[in-house]
Amino acid sequence: MSAPSANDRSNRTLQLIGAGSIAVALAVMGLKYMAYLVTGSVALYSDALESIVNLVTAIAALIAIRVSSQPADRQHQFGHHKAEYLSAVLEGALIIVAAILIMREAYDALVRPRAIEDFGLGMAVSLFATALNGGWSTFLIRQGRARRSPALVADGWHLLTDVMTSVGVLAGLVLVAVTGLYVLDPLLALAVAAYILWSGSKIVVSSMSGLLDEAAGSEIQTRIRDAIRQSGYGALEAHDVRTRQAGRATFIEFHLVVPGDMTVNAAHEICDRLEAAIEAAIDGSEVVIHVEPEHKAKDHARGTIPL
Ligand code: ZN
Ligand code: ZN
Repeated sequence: MSAPSANDRSNRTLQLIGAGSIAVALAVMGLKYMAYLVTGSVALYSDALESIVNLVTAIAALIAIRVSSQPADRQHQFGHHKAEYLSAVLEGALIIVAAILIMREAYDALVRPRAIEDFGLGMAVSLFATALNGGWSTFLIRQGRARRSPALVADGWHLLTDVMTSVGVLAGLVLVAVTGLYVLDPLLALAVAAYILWSGSKIVVSSMSGLLDEAAGSEIQTRIRDAIRQSGYGALEAHDVRTRQAGRATFIEFHLVVPGDMTVNAAHEICDRLEAAIEAAIDGSEVVIHVEPEHKAKDHARGTIPL
């Protein structure tokens, strides 16, 4: 038995965070639904419904993290990193379902206006749930960025939209209580539904981009080029650098031009040195280098790195 690697430990932390998300979603959902039950407010119903989405997506995210951490196998030879994007796409789809459910209930309340009961208690319970969500969402976004987990960041942002809509809903309900204009309650719920749809489409678009082999960020690209410049001595130039991001993994490939009469041994030594330097500079990176003789040089072409 070998000692657990840094990667194993990081995966275990991710799974713990995922379980925490499920617990928070359960608590918030229960509280918000209670606030809806005591008040009968459609706006609070819309808020509670979004929490059901949170619960389902927290479970999906945990499964995705477990799948993502599986090592490469015969069927998936580059690993399972993209499983995280699938959960983010699912999250976007569920947000759309929640918006439709809210619109239905809001329409019902518009046709048959209802009075709001037990206003103070409903507000207090909902405020508490909102504070809980707020704390957890900032925690998720920070952790997700540090660990380059798109699913965690998406969850965090989604929770944050919850917090913002909840604050809007509570402010609106104060207005309803003060003015007695009960029609404002379903209108507020409709506004929440529109906002949920908007945030859902953003999550779907960014996950789609990841599924379509999105390039690494410019900061990572700069670090790759710096590492090639520093460790590529002995070779003539590097060109056609391509990157793609898959969850926490970065796949990097490029062409390395060497003198045509250089031995395979010598060229391979440069490749090994470059691979080690880049993999040390970029966490979770995998490098493939294609060696070429000097007549394949691109000299001053855009993106060429002279060595
Ligand atoms: Zn080439
Ligand atoms: Zn080798």
